[in-house]
Amino acid sequence: MEPGSPRDAEDARLRPTYAVVSRSRLRDNLAAVKALVAPARVMVILKANAYGHGLEAVARCLASQADAFGVALVEEGITLRQLGIENPILVMGGVWTRQIPLFLEHGLTFTAPSLARLRDIEEAAAARNATARVHLKIDTGMERIGVHHYHAEGLLEAAARSAHVEVDGIYSHLSNADADDLADARHQLERFEETLRFYERRSLPRPQRHIANSAALLRMPESHLDLVRAGILTYGVYPFPGAPRAVEVKPALAWKSRVVFFKVVEPGSPVSYGGTWSSDHRVRVVTVPVGYGDGYFRSMSNRAEVILRGRRYPQVGRICMDQVMVNIEWGTGYNGDEVVLIGEQGEARVTVEELAEWAGTIPYEILTAINDRVPRLYEG
Ligand SMILES: *Cc1c(COP(=O)(O)O)cnc(C)c1O
Repeated sequence: MEPGSPRDAEDARLRPTYAVVSRSRLRDNLAAVKALVAPARVMVILKANAYGHGLEAVARCLASQADAFGVALVEEGITLRQLGIENPILVMGGVWTRQIPLFLEHGLTFTAPSLARLRDIEEAAAARNATARVHLKIDTGMERIGVHHYHAEGLLEAAARSAHVEVDGIYSHLSNADADDLADARHQLERFEETLRFYERRSLPRPQRHIANSAALLRMPESHLDLVRAGILTYGVYPFPGAPRAVEVKPALAWKSRVVFFKVVEPGSPVSYGGTWSSDHRVRVVTVPVGYGDGYFRSMSNRAEVILRGRRYPQVGRICMDQVMVNIEWGTGYNGDEVVLIGEQGEARVTVEELAEWAGTIPYEILTAINDRVPRLYEG
């Protein structure tokens, strides 16, 4: 079957555990972000399998709306080009020198994080008589990749002069856009703006400037500049608890499974590895075929809840690699009943934020951890 094409949840080739991604929610979320930041443009971030939503399907779904795409790896960019995606694609990770020719072959935009790397890019482009499209990366405080803002001038100068490099953009990344106190983020933005004065001083055309991620685009309108890099918001998840609802977005992904086993557990009979949970009265316990081997974190053991027949029930005992147990007390549950791990059923809802809390992590990690064993279905 073609990647990203709709599949039927009743397809016998499909295991009972799957994720459903709503294309209409993706489109609506992006439209809401675009409306908020206009006239700034929006680069949709598709790294890590589009935050677990499926790289190919999400790219196809959003190609006509997105001004550009951002990925972490050149391989991700190549996959998009092979699908026929024509939007500009920025590879945001550092360039591994041996992979430079791949960028040129596939028309991908480089991140140039240092003068040395710019030279490598330039040399490879010159050898092919090609023009490399680059975004210069300025480190204003993240200390990850990029030239320090106080040493950036040489990179800007060399890039502006290079015959084989087209400077299409210049960017930086905020390390604290989700913090209670925005002083750090504002400071980074100031340093970035200071770096950008180079173009005025030299009367050179200024490339498109970008610094905002989801948190900054919600909280700091002054950070929108020419382009924003919208990741998690596109997927309908707010970047941190208590993020301002400056745009209304809805989660695009639901994660579902089904009851595959039902039993009654006697008082004092511990459930699952290590016997970490038992009941002091008879209970009904169902087994659901999902586990940490799918990205349902073991650290959520005895904390997670799932929805069955419109009600939330606790997951009990250790989460196994492929299965989990759920205590439905004396509630009703039959083999084949739908179990919602993330999403809604009736009035009940379980959010990716809750899973993050149970696992002691952030929604980003929950979403990107849902792995290839979990088929994705697309609707809308
Ligand atoms: C992942 C990433 C983003 C997107 O961040 P969100 O918080 O998901 O919006 C933006 N910029 C860079 C450099 C990134 O690596």
